[in-house]
Amino acid sequence: MLFPAINRSIASTVLVIGGLLSIVQVMPKYPLLLGERLFPHGGWIQVMLAMLYGGWLCHKMQDREERPKWRKRAWLLFSIVFFGQLMLGIFADPIFLMSGKLHLPIPAVILAGPIYRFEGLFMPILFISTLLLSGPAWCSQLCYFGAFDAWNARGKLERKMFPYHKQMRYSVLFLVMAGAFLLRISGASGVVATAFGIATGGIGLLVMLLFSRKRRKMVHCSSYCPIGTLVSCLKYLSPFRVRLTAGCCHCMACTNACRYDALHKEEIKKGKIGYTCTYCGDCLSACKHEAIEYYFPGLRPANAERLWIVITVVLHTCFLMIARI
Ligand code: SF4
Ligand code: SF4
Ligand code: SF4
Repeated sequence: MLFPAINRSIASTVLVIGGLLSIVQVMPKYPLLLGERLFPHGGWIQVMLAMLYGGWLCHKMQDREERPKWRKRAWLLFSIVFFGQLMLGIFADPIFLMSGKLHLPIPAVILAGPIYRFEGLFMPILFISTLLLSGPAWCSQLCYFGAFDAWNARGKLERKMFPYHKQMRYSVLFLVMAGAFLLRISGASGVVATAFGIATGGIGLLVMLLFSRKRRKMVHCSSYCPIGTLVSCLKYLSPFRVRLTAGCCHCMACTNACRYDALHKEEIKKGKIGYTCTYCGDCLSACKHEAIEYYFPGLRPANAERLWIVITVVLHTCFLMIARI
C-alpha cells in the first residue's frame, strides 16, 4: 500500500489539529493561543508547532512497546505546561492567564463547582464531550492532575489490589457532591467553598504520596478522585471499548502492566477487564497472545486502536495549546 495506515493516522492527526487550532486562532476576539498574545502572528507559529508535535506523538503512540512511556511523558508535559503557565500568570504577568478569573485547578471542582454555584457548565460540557469522543481518555492523558499520580506510581508494579477501593471512591464521590450541595443551601461564602476545594485536592495529593507511591498503582485516580469515578461510570457513552478476546489463555502475564488496577485474576477468568480501565493501552504489549484489543463498531481492532490514538492525541494537543485558567 502506497500510504500505510499509520501514515494516514499521522496525516489525519496533523490535519485535524491544524484545522481546530486555526479556528481557535481566527474566531475569538481575545487571542486564546498564548503565541498570539506574546507577539503578532505568534498564534500561527503555535499552530504549526502543535501540528508537528501532534504528528510526532501520534507516530510514537502507534508503537505498543513504546506507548506507555510516551503517553506518560506527554501527559506530564501537559500538566507541567498547565501549572507552569498558571504560576507565570499569577506571579509574573497576567498575559499567561486565559481569562484572569482564577478557578481551583482540582478535578473535584469540575463536579462540585457547578453544584455550589448553580452555574458554570463549561467544564462539565467539555468533560462530557471528551467522554463521548474518546471514552475514558480524560484519565489517561487529558487531565492536568492525574499525570502526577502516574508519576508517583512509577516503578515495578505490585500485584496486590488496593482494598476497599470501590467503597472508597463512591464514598468520596457522594461526600463531594453532598458537601457542595450543603455549602450551596447553607449560603456558605466563596472562601469556605474554596477551602473545601483545597482540602479535597490536598487529601488527593496525600493519597498520591502515601499510597500510589507505595503500591506503584494509581491509587488516587482509581480509588479516590470523584471525577475518575464518573469517568469509570460514564465512559460507556462512547462506542470505544478495550476488551479481552476469546484468545485469552488466562496466563495472567498482563496483570502487572496496569497502573489503574483494572486487570485482576478473578475478572480475567470471567473474560472481563476491570471498570477502572482508561483504555490507555499500556497492557497491550504485555499480552503475547494478542488477547486484548480495542473495539469500535464496524472497525477492525487495529483500526479502532488507531482511531482512538488519533482522537486522543488531537484532544491532548489541543488541550496542551489551549487548556488554561
Ligand atoms: S481520576 Fe481524577 S485526577 Fe486522575 S486523571 Fe481522572 S480526573 Fe484526573
Ligand atoms: S489477556 Fe493475554 S496476558 Fe492477559 S491473561 Fe489473557 S492471554 Fe494472558
Ligand atoms: S487494562 Fe490495559 S488499557 Fe485498561 S487501564 Fe489497564 S493498562 Fe490501560
